[in-house]
Amino acid sequence: MYDKDNIFAKILRAEIPCKKVYEDKFVLAFHDINPQAKIHVLVIPKGAYVDLNDFSKNAKNEEIEGLIRGLGKVAKILNIEEAGYRYLGNNGKDGGQEVPHLHFHIFGGEKLGKMISK
Ligand code: 5GP
Repeated sequence: MYDKDNIFAKILRAEIPCKKVYEDKFVLAFHDINPQAKIHVLVIPKGAYVDLNDFSKNAKNEEIEGLIRGLGKVAKILNIEEAGYRYLGNNGKDGGQEVPHLHFHIFGGEKLGKMISK
């Protein structure tokens, strides 16, 4: 069940501010408040989806396309296409998802460490 008062829903409604990187019909991208790398940006769909389970089942094709294209556009805007970067999604309890609105993290601007640490 989607919680319309989660923090990213509030950012989408501009009830709380964000440092915006990119916005279009389908996505909003903004800098993470607690960056874990030199560049740490969050890319979220504008639709109300809790996680990838929800999104992959219920999103329209144009929303799915919009999110993937949005991720690519953000990498271009951040000027990290050539150097490389990491995109990551935490899903549910075991995935360590804290905010219940689907989001992808984009990390870059430096050489990143191991993919997973437990
Ligand atoms: P998760 O663990 O759910 O994948 O990641 C949630 C991310 O959202 C964290 O990296 C956290 O720093 C970020 N975050 C939480 N609250 C805010 C906020 O109010 N503004 C921004 N820009 N990022 C936030």
